[in-house]
Amino acid sequence: MKQRIPLLLFLALIGVGPAVLPEFHVTLLNYIGLYSIVALGLVLLTGVGGLTSFGQAAFVGLGAYATGYLTTAHAVSPWLTLLAGLAVTAAVALVLGVLTLRLSGHYLPLGTIAWGISLYFLFGNLEFLGGHTGLTGIPVLELFGWKLDTGREFYYLIWLVLLGAVLATQNLLDSREGRAIRALKGGGLMAEAMGVDTARVKIVIFLIAALFACVSGWLYAHLQRFVNPTPFGLAIGIEYLFMAVVGGAAHVWGALVGAGVITVLKQWLQDLLPKIFGQSGNFEVIFFGVLLVLVLQRAREGIWPWLRRLVPLRSAQRHVAAAEPLPARQMPAPGTVLLEVKGARKAFGGLVANNDMNLSVKAGEVMALIGPNGAGKSTMFNCISGVDPVTAGEIRFLGERVDALASRQIARRGMGRTFQHVRLLPTMSVLENVALGAHLRGAKGVLSSSLHLERAEEARHLAEAKRQLERVGLGGHLFEEAGSLPLGQQRILEIARALAADPCLLLLDEPAAGLRYLEKQALAELLRRLRAQGMGILLVEHDMDFVMGLADRVVVMEFGEKIAEGLPEEVQKDPVVLEAYLGGVE
Ligand code: ADP
Ligand code: MG
Repeated sequence: MKQRIPLLLFLALIGVGPAVLPEFHVTLLNYIGLYSIVALGLVLLTGVGGLTSFGQAAFVGLGAYATGYLTTAHAVSPWLTLLAGLAVTAAVALVLGVLTLRLSGHYLPLGTIAWGISLYFLFGNLEFLGGHTGLTGIPVLELFGWKLDTGREFYYLIWLVLLGAVLATQNLLDSREGRAIRALKGGGLMAEAMGVDTARVKIVIFLIAALFACVSGWLYAHLQRFVNPTPFGLAIGIEYLFMAVVGGAAHVWGALVGAGVITVLKQWLQDLLPKIFGQSGNFEVIFFGVLLVLVLQRAREGIWPWLRRLVPLRSAQRHVAAAEPLPARQMPAPGTVLLEVKGARKAFGGLVANNDMNLSVKAGEVMALIGPNGAGKSTMFNCISGVDPVTAGEIRFLGERVDALASRQIARRGMGRTFQHVRLLPTMSVLENVALGAHLRGAKGVLSSSLHLERAEEARHLAEAKRQLERVGLGGHLFEEAGSLPLGQQRILEIARALAADPCLLLLDEPAAGLRYLEKQALAELLRRLRAQGMGILLVEHDMDFVMGLADRVVVMEFGEKIAEGLPEEVQKDPVVLEAYLGGVE
């Protein structure tokens, strides 16, 4: 309850606002609300998802023009035009998203600038949209016979929509889909290997951001009762992005803070700067430019995280509720061939990292893949798991060719893996990092997540994550940030994450690196138990005591090729192997 006091206070202030504030301030709050809705979409898209868009103003324009045109030219009810606007925006965003989201690095923002400008000029040049003068006579919104014809009344609609959007976004981020969204920035490759279709997730957040912008535009059109192209240009698109960044791009409340600060500051500067410079001339733009550079240099996280620290409330002690276990896979019978690699070749340009590699792993055995640094072991893992596909050759998993499949498709078939260079989401909790591993075992989508209708499934995912963390011995660290664990334990976390997917084949790339003696023993014990339960394990490891005490069979690689294969005791005596490791035996 105590946690909620600041929120309740804020809601109370928002509630009484129009009753006590002068007209001018209500208007300002209306605009802050409208901007916040757009900025909230950018928090999701840019702040959380890492996809920068300068073009959101164009989507605001789509919402505004859709209702402007349909209500004035065809007398369609505004509530229907909202649906029409959302449909048009979704269609346009889908096309733009498919075209631009594939662009990486700075090409994506450039792409958004391009379509932002295009749509802006389209609004201005279409005859039926009134050209640069725009459309007037947009009707007043009516809600159950109540006419929203003053700013004070409209205020409540705007803020209700905004708070609803904040709640939905917060719910979404706190879900299975939300973990996939949060993994996009910096964890895309890992998320794919956990079964997340990152291309789809990107489109989803792009659509949500566009739809939020559209709703803001629809509200704007009925508040102003006229539209022209000016507020939908690139300059405003940049301003929206600026709001999200200044407020705290990765936090939902940052959208409100950013929109508030920028709007008030802009108002104030527009009054102040002409007095200083003696003439009017958009000086605030220059000021904002400087401010943005300062924010990016001094407070990348934006204002919100800093505000939060001022209110020293500890986040609620969380616990994981008991829940029915997730359905488990039928394990293949011991001895079944799980993995077969035949003549696999991987070339990076002129460098052949894997050449004519052959190996197999059966259910219920530990196969070790060893060899000096640079031999090509991790490359082999990436080929097998589809993270970086083979150049030539054949890889079969459970009898099926998988060498042309994406890593998420291979994961779905029951292959789990860890990474030699740990790939986790350092600011996410240990528990949630592992829950991401169970991604494929859930089905609830974005809509039910936004409405929190997936709580039963979510509880099962968190309970599964907790179970796996206890299994690997990290049960005492559930709510810590994953990045705060020592490196060795981060590797163990990755094993729990792989297990959360309920795999039948486990690929472990140097799992014991950085572990202390007792931790290594515990890990070996865990792997023995997994093997006894019928799991196949392919293990890369440098610690020879660890490998030889555990492995059933060993494959040795050097310079990308297999140089030996056999039982641990055979391989250890093999002169070719000794040569590779020691550089010659006397
Ligand atoms: P290991 O895991 O056995 O130490 P790796 O599979 O990581 O070896 O690397 C094998 C060889 O392939 C090395 O020479 C490495 O530099 C090269 N290599 C690995 N990944 C890439 C890549 N993405 N691009 C180019 N070369 C790579
Ligand atoms: Mg390696």
